[in-house]
Amino acid sequence: MLEKLQQYYSTAKTLLQNTANLADLESFYREHLAPSGKATNWKREIGKVPVEERRAFGQAVNEVTSELLAAFETRRDLLKLKDIAETIAAQATDVTLPGRPLRVGGFHPSTLAVREVSGVFQRMGFMPFESAHVELDRNNFEYLNMPPDHPARDMQDTFYFSEDILLRTHTSSGQIHAMRRFAPEPLRIVLPGLCYRHENITPRSEIQFHQVEGLLIGPNVRMSDLKGVLLQFARQMFGPNQQIRVRGSYFPFTEPSVEVDIRCTLCSGEGCRVCKHTGWLELLGAGMVHPAVLRFGGYDPEKVRGIAFGLGIERLILLRHGIDDIRYIFQNDLRFLRQFGE
Ligand SMILES: [Zn+2]
Repeated sequence: MLEKLQQYYSTAKTLLQNTANLADLESFYREHLAPSGKATNWKREIGKVPVEERRAFGQAVNEVTSELLAAFETRRDLLKLKDIAETIAAQATDVTLPGRPLRVGGFHPSTLAVREVSGVFQRMGFMPFESAHVELDRNNFEYLNMPPDHPARDMQDTFYFSEDILLRTHTSSGQIHAMRRFAPEPLRIVLPGLCYRHENITPRSEIQFHQVEGLLIGPNVRMSDLKGVLLQFARQMFGPNQQIRVRGSYFPFTEPSVEVDIRCTLCSGEGCRVCKHTGWLELLGAGMVHPAVLRFGGYDPEKVRGIAFGLGIERLILLRHGIDDIRYIFQNDLRFLRQFGE
């Protein structure tokens, strides 16, 4: 019997040493050391041996059981440490791996173009001037020589909040704010910003668009200054050999009013589909500031004169990149927007 017990002990010990993880160890415990396990069952054998051997056998059973239990605990501590070490190894950061690329946001194409255009005029000494998007009717229309019944108001369908308050239809409303702040001093400002019109959204028109507008007021300002500034602008934007063409036009706030074209950038003036075979592309509207507007701004039209010009930024983007639908610009489609970089 004692021999069998020794055999069992050595087998059980080997099994214990061979457990590879905590789950194995758990099954070992259930099979051997739990209340109905094999080691525990040896205690029931004690009563079956002859009386004279019983004491020694009982001692041996107790020794085997407690040694197995001690060996079990040692094994458990070891396997726990091994388990922790494995978890750490599995979750460790490999600092030699290449980094994941970070996708950073970029500027909207309109923002980039507004900054570029404003930048050209700022380098010519025009100071940036911004004003509110929500405007009074008189700053947006009346003081720009468009009284309430003026037919030119029909050219600009307007979002009204009330009879007097509206979303500005052009950045020109900022001209009034600037003139009233600085008159009678000479003025040279560039006004960038978002404008709003109550239009149907089509490939050619949107309800919002950016404008960059310029205003220069001083004692000896002439039409030739306007031409010089705009030629310089066209050459900065479209290349040193660019030419401009000035055509008569009509705006209520300028007199005379002109529209300014540049040589078609696609065909260099040869004539193509984009320029409708004229060789020219419409760039912006401009003119000498109307005396009534100067007066509303606080200037004396007998003493100073002004030039003003304004261009639509989205139209410029379409022109430059040969895009035929303005709606792409405001659709927030990242596949489109990402093509403009940073
Ligand atoms: Zn062309």
